[in-house]
Amino acid sequence: MGRDITKCHPELQVLAARLIEKCRKKGLIVKLGECYRTVEEQNRLYALGRTEKGNIVTYAKGTDYDSMHQWGIAFDIIRNDGKEAYNNSDGWFNKAGKIGKDIGLEWGGDWTKPVDLPHFQLKYWGSTPAGLKKLYKTPDNFKKTWKDVFIAKKEEYEVVETGYININGRTIKIDKIVKDGRNFINLRGLENAGFTVGYNSSTKVPSLDNKTEDIDISANGNISRIKAINIKGNNYVQIRELAKVLGDIEVGYTDGTVILNKTERY
Ligand SMILES: [Zn+2]
Repeated sequence: MGRDITKCHPELQVLAARLIEKCRKKGLIVKLGECYRTVEEQNRLYALGRTEKGNIVTYAKGTDYDSMHQWGIAFDIIRNDGKEAYNNSDGWFNKAGKIGKDIGLEWGGDWTKPVDLPHFQLKYWGSTPAGLKKLYKTPDNFKKTWKDVFIAKKEEYEVVETGYININGRTIKIDKIVKDGRNFINLRGLENAGFTVGYNSSTKVPSLDNKTEDIDISANGNISRIKAINIKGNNYVQIRELAKVLGDIEVGYTDGTVILNKTERY
């Protein structure tokens, strides 16, 4: 039951395919397990170890929409290399989990109650369905938004990664994507680092957009145009372009960390 990835969110389908491919290259043969679950399917799982015989396998009740699987944004994997499906004696699931995180998925192996080694999910709405419930009430309402999700050619798909940026001696974590060998960083992350950057985006795309396009950015009162990639309403801009606009920023790289130095405070 529930093993049809094509019933899941379009972005999850792409990431599932990518996870399988990347794992295969590292010698990990992955098979998809549970993907999308209906209310009835989730209720049946919830009954195990409670009203039905068996071990407890989930804390999520179907009628409460408490499983991310019911929202179509989660899948589980099993190993398909001849060993027992959930054998982790060699850290197989940890290796797959690391690869999943690298391509932008949230991994259940990072959770504590319970640890869920085979589980991956999209991370835009938080770890639990609380945010989705608030926004959409039901999975059916949420699914109506999927038709607006634009997925370009699979290979051009942008993955948000964690990067580090050093600003005036202080290292901060920042979301970034790499496109055509160039780093694009999340503009909002820079605001958190104490920059006063205002911008006026004409691209309020609520889903993934693979194209770069010009946005207006207001820096120190001057409006300039720079290239940006918009993902989930966040603009990702290229550091060098931003530095040019700000004027008083030096950009450097050390040990894979981008160094920004303000030459004066404002
Ligand atoms: Zn799961």
